[in-house]
Amino acid sequence: MKTLKKFAELHNFSVDQQRRACYGRYNGYDIIIMNLQNQKNYMIQLSVCHPDAQVTQEAKNYTFSLASQYEGVHYANYASPNLTISVKRNSKSGPNLDMLVDVVTRYLAQHQFQNCCQTCQQTSSTAFYSVQGKPYILCPECFNKVSSSMMHRQSEAPKENVALGTLGAFLGSLVGVVLWMILYRICIIAAICGALMVYCSIRGYEKLGHVLTKKGLIISTLICILMIFIAEYASLAIEVYIQLKDIYVMSIIEALEVTPSFLGDSNVLPYFIKDLVIGYLFLIITSASSIRNIGHQLNTQDEVARLY
Ligand SMILES: [Zn+2]
Repeated sequence: MKTLKKFAELHNFSVDQQRRACYGRYNGYDIIIMNLQNQKNYMIQLSVCHPDAQVTQEAKNYTFSLASQYEGVHYANYASPNLTISVKRNSKSGPNLDMLVDVVTRYLAQHQFQNCCQTCQQTSSTAFYSVQGKPYILCPECFNKVSSSMMHRQSEAPKENVALGTLGAFLGSLVGVVLWMILYRICIIAAICGALMVYCSIRGYEKLGHVLTKKGLIISTLICILMIFIAEYASLAIEVYIQLKDIYVMSIIEALEVTPSFLGDSNVLPYFIKDLVIGYLFLIITSASSIRNIGHQLNTQDEVARLY
């Protein structure tokens, strides 16, 4: 966000931390610049149109050529009214945002392009709005349409069933547990276990609970944290069972019962803890950002608001 903040300060744009964007008017054109999470690019977005098809086509060609003209432009596309330029975030030799925005808006002004609504292409009273956490350039009529359809969607949405959702999250997490136990047999703790566990647990909650909410996300995450411990414990119990079954007559249940006494053993406990620490580290590395992203999506999925 540092580059966006700097750009915003310089050109009097608004910075929007929540939507990881800045927006404002430059050379008379409404511009949104997004710093999308998990993507290595900045996205410059304009909504402009021209009544002449020939001029529009020329602008299309011009926009397309930006990628070959300027190093650091990942791609650039104009499909009226949406003009999008993707700029590599870590491009040292490439163009800076200021220069690109300046060049493009000058071209548009020179060819008398007008700001317009991204949906209906009406050219008057456009403004910045947020729909489901993403900024858009819209006219008031289109915004009202989107608002009422969102309200309708909310009233039609299925009701969350927390109990069934929790069961779904539990069942989903078992996929990761089983994989953990299989890999434990060949002495591997793989990052995939945690990632798979979180994915299946969240999907399980959504499937049986009808809808995923923030509460569901927290429940699924807590279940995964617990299930990693259970997977490690059950793996150790199976190890105990395999080692002792020929010496003592023992069932799996009995092995589970005697496992705590093995945890007191100074040869076993450090490995148990080490496995758990690795498992939790993998869980954090593979899943923390996707859990945060889903949380952000859930926070903004029903949002419609005027921004500027
Ligand atoms: Zn419109």
